Amino acid sequence: MPDNKLKVVVVGGAAAGPTAASTARRRDSAASITLLEKGKFISYAA
Ligand SMILES: Cc1cc2nc3c(=O)[nH]c(=O)nc-3n(C[C@H](O)[C@H](O)[C@H](O)COP(=O)(O)OP(=O)(O)OC[C@H]3O[C@@H](n4cnc5c(N)ncnc54)[C@H](O)[C@@H]3O)c2cc1C
Repeated sequence: MPDNKLKVVVVGGAAAGPTAASTARRRDSAASITLLEKGKFISYAA
């Protein structure tokens, strides 16, 4: 069966990235959302 879920990949987990990811989640509760951060910390700048 095809997977028709929206897939979102966000690159960067400081300020803009988590905002984009949470906005995507609010707009589509079933979406597959992946947040990639190359550093050690998430949302340190928010
Ligand atoms: C010297 C300085 C002082 C500042 N002081 C303040 C302050 O006191 N208060 C304030 O509100 N704002 C401050 N700012 C501004 C604030 O840092 C930025 O507005 C905010 O960090 C921007 O967030 P951003 O998510 O757009 O980008 P960034 O903070 O640049 O985040 C981008 C993220 O993406 C990650 N990334 C990049 N490439 C990849 C990759 N290929 N794969 C995975 N992850 C990746 C990085 O590791 C980083 O975590 C300051 C900025 C500077 C330069």
